[in-house]
Amino acid sequence: MPKIIIVGAGPGGLATAIRLASRGYSVEIFEAANRVGGRMAGFENGSYSFDTGPTILQLPRVYQELFTESGLNLSDYIQFKQLDPNTRVHFWDNTRLDLTSNIEAFKIQLGAIRSDLGTAFDKWYAEHVRKYKVGYKSYLGTPVRSIAGYLNPLEIARAISFRPWESLYQQFWHHFKDERIAYALSYSSKYLGMHPTVCSSIFSLIPYLEFADGVWHPEGGFRALALAMAKATEDLGTRIHLNSSVKQIWIENRQTKGVELASGERVRADAVIINADFAHAMKNLLPESARGKYTDAKLGKMQFSCSTFMLYLGINRRYEDLPHHQIYLSDNVRKRSRPWIDDSALDEENPPFYVCNPTIIDPSNAPAGHSTLFVLVPIPNTAYNVDWASKQKSYRNLIIQRMPLLGYKNIEKHIVTETCYTANTWQDDYRTHLGAVFNLTHNWKQLGPLRPHIRSNTVSKLYFIGGAVHPGSGLLTILEAAKSATSFVGQDITTSVNDT
Ligand SMILES: Cc1cc2nc3c(=O)[nH]c(=O)nc-3n(C[C@H](O)[C@H](O)[C@H](O)COP(=O)(O)OP(=O)(O)OC[C@H]3O[C@@H](n4cnc5c(N)ncnc54)[C@H](O)[C@@H]3O)c2cc1C
Repeated sequence: MPKIIIVGAGPGGLATAIRLASRGYSVEIFEAANRVGGRMAGFENGSYSFDTGPTILQLPRVYQELFTESGLNLSDYIQFKQLDPNTRVHFWDNTRLDLTSNIEAFKIQLGAIRSDLGTAFDKWYAEHVRKYKVGYKSYLGTPVRSIAGYLNPLEIARAISFRPWESLYQQFWHHFKDERIAYALSYSSKYLGMHPTVCSSIFSLIPYLEFADGVWHPEGGFRALALAMAKATEDLGTRIHLNSSVKQIWIENRQTKGVELASGERVRADAVIINADFAHAMKNLLPESARGKYTDAKLGKMQFSCSTFMLYLGINRRYEDLPHHQIYLSDNVRKRSRPWIDDSALDEENPPFYVCNPTIIDPSNAPAGHSTLFVLVPIPNTAYNVDWASKQKSYRNLIIQRMPLLGYKNIEKHIVTETCYTANTWQDDYRTHLGAVFNLTHNWKQLGPLRPHIRSNTVSKLYFIGGAVHPGSGLLTILEAAKSATSFVGQDITTSVNDT
């Protein structure tokens, strides 16, 4: 049985392990941390449990497919619950809008803002039904092609009809001519770590998917999803080694031989898949000769996403009346110059922020009558040298003072436990280059064939899986990439299962 080693038990590593193990490979995962999940691992603080990273799950069918195509039942491992509203957006002028998959209810809200907005939404939605059919499978759901592979006249004609040169913000402005609606619908660009005015409108499929298919929450949180994926792959025979940091990939004559662990032990394999953050791996796990074009100089020129300031709060009360996801879009979101559009300086005046209130549908994460809150603020990545040792406390106070803007009144007096992450935490504790939690930005120079590839061009039987490689960051996208990674391994190393 061919043996595959995966470096890292993040969502990308786990999804690839499930697929490979079900196809007859012997899979071993080496994970540096003491639990699985990477940025999705979660943690406990006293009697409160927290998700660390993802809180928004889109397109459950992709998880369903991962399990079904691997001979498993997703529902034997985890259940998903749909949220309503998807997200409540509060604006700089004290108005608000509930984004919801209940399209009629959404259009009633739009109609109350301006009478023609419901019709404008219908037009936008119909365009996206078409865009989804054309774009999802050919871009997200398939391995990357060469540049020439995209020069297909029919595909180009179809793509042009969706005006991909527009920014996400421009696209929504074009349809709605209302600044609040345009920002509310385009702010999902922040899932990719980008401001809506610099993110391509090709990503309008993200808000479309949320309208069409909803926003979901895994029961027990995303940390339970990580455990479910780990259990699934273990049930298929994968061995997961925690607290097992890989020191370097073992390569001879441009052939992958296995890995060398921090302990000095060498473990042989037929192929290695690196799930560790791409730039981190380039700098730390691969010799210069195996890095291809991704030298330090090249990485220095590439653009990485923003980071996030996080507060994970254990609270001695519940907020039953507040929705699961809320975003505050401050006046500064409307600014079109640096540092507001590229997060190159810390906004210490009026930052936008997001709060997740998961306990209302997932009470298991806190003692009876208590709850947990997850607060996220986009901040510069570590390339911009924010001195967090001196700023962390005042920034925490600023955000706590602003939480009443989302309905969390007198929050300070209800805090029982708190944990704070800065860009340094993501960089140092989660081994994420520059603490750029959404990986490489998704600009035109770093998309499709120009994004790092899953299969190494330099070393045989070496692959990458995660948010930095094609097609991009986020769970849904990485799960799609896991399909491509499995298919590349299948092309390079056959087993009795994929032989038949
Ligand atoms: C605050 C935040 C909010 C987010 N919100 C969402 C969301 O709502 N929805 C969504 O879809 N996505 C969201 N994301 C993005 C999502 O979390 C990432 O895209 C995803 O976790 C990336 O998965 P990955 O497998 O590529 O890498 P990671 O999750 O980073 O996993 C990589 C793993 O490799 C391990 N590793 C690194 N180096 C070594 C080594 N030398 N040896 C062994 N192991 C090693 C790490 O410990 C880690 O476990 C969010 C991320 C953050 C941080």
